[in-house]
Amino acid sequence: MLSKVACPACGTANRIAAGRPPQSAKCGRCGAPLGLGRPVEADDNSLFKHLAATDGPVLLDVWAAWCGPCRMMAPEFEAAAKALQGQARFLKLDADTNQAASRLGVRGIPTLILFNRGEEIARRSGLAPQAEIVSWLRREAGVPSTAQGATR
Ligand SMILES: [Zn+2]
Repeated sequence: MLSKVACPACGTANRIAAGRPPQSAKCGRCGAPLGLGRPVEADDNSLFKHLAATDGPVLLDVWAAWCGPCRMMAPEFEAAAKALQGQARFLKLDADTNQAASRLGVRGIPTLILFNRGEEIARRSGLAPQAEIVSWLRREAGVPSTAQGATR
């Protein structure tokens, strides 16, 4: 579960109130949407702030505009972010404009890197459909599939 995230606008760490819809969560400091339930653009400056401030799984999509499979995966990644809203932070990093991609040792794109409490716990390369992204994240990060309105 996600219990703390960084505001995409000002970087302030925000606690996530339980029992409120994650998609409408706003920053307590600047009022900007916290961007839960959708991918948030990260860059060299914000990526490590997100990783340091987030309490819960963070999934990073390393991509570039010229990469066909990256563009094909974008809607899948978006759908996965929606499916796992409130359970994981979804970030995107443009490999062309940010050094962080090479610092993370990314060789091919698209690459998905999964972090928990700031540490990398898994990564995978190549195009993946929504269902595969969701089940892979749940398995690797130990996110139960019964959260978010399930009955069991
Ligand atoms: Zn803010």
